[in-house]
Amino acid sequence: MRLSVVVPCFNEEASVERLHAAVTAATSALTAEIEVVFVDDGSDDGTLVALRGLAARDATVKYTSLSRNFGKEAAMLAGLERASGDAVVIMDADLQHPPHLLPRMIELFEQGYDQVIAVRDRRGDRFFRTLASRTFYRMVNRLVDVQLTDGAGDFRLLSRRAVDAVLSLPEYNRFSKGLYSWIGFNTIAFAYTNEARQGGQSKWTVGKLFNYALDGLLSFNNRPLRLAIYAGLTLTVLAVAYMTWVVVSALVRGIDMPGYTTIIVSVIGLGGIQMMILGIIGEYIGRLYYETKRRPHYLAKETEATTVRPPSARR
Ligand code: UDP
Ligand code: MG
Repeated sequence: MRLSVVVPCFNEEASVERLHAAVTAATSALTAEIEVVFVDDGSDDGTLVALRGLAARDATVKYTSLSRNFGKEAAMLAGLERASGDAVVIMDADLQHPPHLLPRMIELFEQGYDQVIAVRDRRGDRFFRTLASRTFYRMVNRLVDVQLTDGAGDFRLLSRRAVDAVLSLPEYNRFSKGLYSWIGFNTIAFAYTNEARQGGQSKWTVGKLFNYALDGLLSFNNRPLRLAIYAGLTLTVLAVAYMTWVVVSALVRGIDMPGYTTIIVSVIGLGGIQMMILGIIGEYIGRLYYETKRRPHYLAKETEATTVRPPSARR
């Protein structure tokens, strides 16, 4: 059996060597043949230099360096496309996905599972981050057609046919948690304890997380559009009821002019709702726009097979 480990790296010069050592140590007792596929996602530190060094020393190391930072989704896709294993594990470079779990994942793969998900608990996370995630998953699972689990991230093993299934989904906007759930196959999850990042720092900011949440909501269905329709319907019904009341009371009690507050509140309220709904529609149109351009997900500038310049000469 052949195992590929795919590692997206963005400014991880502090981690790649350590990760490689940890993966090698964790898999040395296994009979599986190992290949480690690093993807340098346009790092501007010494990540690429470190990868060249690793690949020169160890023939089981492959790498692809992207022409700029395309984001983790694109980097993972690049890695999956290069991975040749019967099973592929995707893991972060910062050792937050402990390599010592690899043997366990392979064991489960050999029992016939196509997706083995390592689910992290949120011990050690900041309170608000945890709260935000919980709320997000509760909301998303109500709105989205596929089920997403909190803590079930990108640390997972995929069988060859699961990888091929993911690769057969051509969409430009990739929300891989949703893609993995969408493809199905025999799936098993097990829990592990969250570990602190080793070296470097997290690339997630609050803004990025918020956008990620929106992506999750919008990538998998048109239910937000449905919600907009229902909101519009509810408001119309309320407005008609109120109008009837106003007309009837004017007829019964004579002409009656006050109502400044009502007018201002309804103008601002309706304006806000309309803008939000326009925004939702705009998001879907924007997605269509990007999908129709059919641009590649990433561009590669170098792999271990194409290194020509002397290592360390250029970034
Ligand atoms: N990553 C990437 N491209 C990006 C951002 C992140 O390839 O644009 C990689 C990063 O190098 C790491 C993994 O994705 O291996 C997870 O990133 P990070 O540790 O910053 O996220 P967190 O663990 O905080 O969720
Ligand atoms: Mg991390």
